[in-house]
Amino acid sequence: MAGAESLRPRRRATVSVDVGGVLVGGAHPVVVQSMTNTDTADPDATAIQVARLAHAGSQLVRVTVNTDAAAAAVPEVLRKLADLGVSVPVIGDFHYNGHQLLVEHPAAAAGLAKYRINPGNVGGKRHDENFQTIVRVAIEHDKPVRIGVNWGSLDQALLTELMDANARAAAPRDARDVMIEAMIESAMRSAELAEATGLRHDRIILSAKVSNVRDLVDVYRLLAGRSDYPLHLGLTEAGLGMKGIVASTAGLAILLNEGIGDTIRVSLTPAPGGEREEEVRVAQQVLQSMGLRSFLPQVSACPGCGRTTSTFFQEMAERIQIHLRDRMPEWRETHPGVEELTVAVMGCVVNGPGESKHANIGISLPGTFEDPVAPVFVDGKLDRTLRGEGLVDEFIEILEAYIERRYPSLERPGPPDR
Ligand code: SF4
Repeated sequence: MAGAESLRPRRRATVSVDVGGVLVGGAHPVVVQSMTNTDTADPDATAIQVARLAHAGSQLVRVTVNTDAAAAAVPEVLRKLADLGVSVPVIGDFHYNGHQLLVEHPAAAAGLAKYRINPGNVGGKRHDENFQTIVRVAIEHDKPVRIGVNWGSLDQALLTELMDANARAAAPRDARDVMIEAMIESAMRSAELAEATGLRHDRIILSAKVSNVRDLVDVYRLLAGRSDYPLHLGLTEAGLGMKGIVASTAGLAILLNEGIGDTIRVSLTPAPGGEREEEVRVAQQVLQSMGLRSFLPQVSACPGCGRTTSTFFQEMAERIQIHLRDRMPEWRETHPGVEELTVAVMGCVVNGPGESKHANIGISLPGTFEDPVAPVFVDGKLDRTLRGEGLVDEFIEILEAYIERRYPSLERPGPPDR
């Protein structure tokens, strides 16, 4: 008897699309991307934010191109990024007037690494004509496109067509099912039109974003079963803070676990004054938690309980996490492999030594009523015991020394040949 597992559509191998040197799809690792929220017409602010997102690990960064001023500023944004030594591919996000802007601003069209087209926003009566204009510009500049359907701006003519057909059917389906079908049809018909216009098959990425986790899963499972285009995955309008992070993780995890999704974005609404890079860190953490990619050493910390009546171990875990995050941009260049490191910071003797032994390096802090000593384990063996006020600094020193030893610096000459 077939198990429930076999009922799920499995993703076929996708084609691979080159986006400014970053390969999306095929057997390539899932790519993390993000989007700015600056006014693109302000090239300083936009270049700085793109650089910050790239520095956080975003492999592709999308910018809004919505006006003549924004399109005119794109070459300047790219120049400023080059001056900063940032080479991340920049993608243009177009709605309503992309066909005009890309034609009237050839330097922007040439500089952008990919164009995002929303088939629901390319013009009502002249839909196909405008869509084809963008595709022709992409062909002329040898750029890929993302056909990015969004349920908030779904092609209304197509939705009406499918709703009418459904109403005439002997057994009409649920309106939600018709909406999902309309999203998939919009993506697939647009991809067909793009190819009929002359765009290569390996120049197309698809997305069909919704803001509800269950809808997202259903849409992408069906879309994955319909084509071999790489899929850009993400919950649109994920929301603020914890809600946005949990909802995005829930949707992404289900689909990624089924092999669906070649590039991801976590569309968080930043808190006022919050960092835009948070969406990059969340996307990386989703991939790392699922064992799909490694970006940052992982800290395992116990939740604490009645055996830890002080907040000392929580503060220590946080300090170590921040230390690792702050050091990572340099280590990424100088200590390849360090992103695989695991660190344990545990609150008492119950699980402390055991969990610490499973990590590359771990510390088991004393719980309430235990001797005030903290054994440190390195590669599963007791290395030393720390005590006293300087314990956190000492542990960080041990950690730094371990990283130097285990992931030798590229800058240091290797041992002489014997
Ligand atoms: S390791 Fe100790 S302090 Fe941490 S949750 Fe378990 S019993 Fe509580």
